Amino acid sequence: MARVEDGLARVLEEIAEASERVNRPGEVALVAVTKTVPPTVIQQAYEAGQRLFGENRVQEAAEKIEALSALGGVDWHLIGHLQRNKAKQAARWFSTVESVDSASLARKLDGHAGEVGRRLPVLLEVNVSGEESKFGLHPDDVPQFARELRALPHLELRGLMTIAPLVSDPEEVRPVFRRLRKLRDTVRQDVGVESCTELSMGMSGDFVVAIEEGSTMVRIGRAIFGERP
Ligand SMILES: *Cc1c(COP(=O)(O)O)cnc(C)c1O
Repeated sequence: MARVEDGLARVLEEIAEASERVNRPGEVALVAVTKTVPPTVIQQAYEAGQRLFGENRVQEAAEKIEALSALGGVDWHLIGHLQRNKAKQAARWFSTVESVDSASLARKLDGHAGEVGRRLPVLLEVNVSGEESKFGLHPDDVPQFARELRALPHLELRGLMTIAPLVSDPEEVRPVFRRLRKLRDTVRQDVGVESCTELSMGMSGDFVVAIEEGSTMVRIGRAIFGERP
């Protein structure tokens, strides 16, 4: 079996190369995606220096976060679709929720974040490609949504997130990443949400192109941990 340290080192090097090439060295964070990865293996990534992890299901994540609670300084991002009835748990377990995709969910999260006395950083998930199988806001709805979010005192809009279609040639999805970046600029400059700086885009198959198009956060699973069962 491939060693996690090797996969991690290789991915970090590719991120460094790509971000240097576009003059943004050190500006791209790695979210190591650990869905289906057991705590013992996550701990190997931690020991190799990784501190930021992404999970796509609340229950699976909660169990791992508890199992690994002795490790200091770890950030967990929720990157998968969140059902409203799990919002309370999500507001407790995650440092950032990347997958806010409806007004009703945003209101729920805001309420629960208030209950635990925190301001929860969130990203808006945008369905840029319009695939029916995908969650996320329609791109045209994002500016108005960002405006409404300002009325929720316990959420902080940090940026936008998207999942590009699965393609064999990552060049095909370059326009998807470019569109998300333009949308982020609109939310910052035209809507005036200055905290909206992050672009969570890029996965194992397409992260180099995403970095070239302005990604500040790549979410990578298979390229580090190997294929999922
Ligand atoms: C699984 C997943 C990833 C990582 O995908 P890989 O192809 O394993 O790199 C990224 N983002 C989301 C939302 C995911 O569910």
